[in-house]
Amino acid sequence: MDCIFCKIANKEIPSNFIYEDENVIAFNDLNPQAPVHFLVVPKKHYESLNTIDSKEAFADIFSAVPKICEKLGVKEYRTVVNTGESAGQSVFHIHVHVMAGREFTWPAG
Ligand code: AMP
Ligand code: ZN
Repeated sequence: MDCIFCKIANKEIPSNFIYEDENVIAFNDLNPQAPVHFLVVPKKHYESLNTIDSKEAFADIFSAVPKICEKLGVKEYRTVVNTGESAGQSVFHIHVHVMAGREFTWPAG
């Protein structure tokens, strides 16, 4: 399957992981929207939030977020999951954006 995040997870494309465990990786976003902007990505391919099929997968992805933030000394952050093109999803392998280091406005644009 031609999926950029699968290739990163499989180490076919070199990337500096800021976190890795059995099920999840995290790496800095190529086009950061905040001083801290990384992506938390399951190693298993799920197209989006709509196709996650187990509670374990949710738990694996989301429980990694505070662990990584603690490691980075980040206490306050914005998490974003875009689902579908109109919501801004451009890579169809689910990922959680974690952004920090500036003020965020609400609602998101
Ligand atoms: P989304 O638009 O929510 O699907 O987010 C996709 C994100 O992936 C964007 O913020 C891109 O900047 C980021 N991105 C795309 N390719 C790479 C890559 N090779 N390494 C790191 N981040 C990437
Ligand atoms: Zn994938």
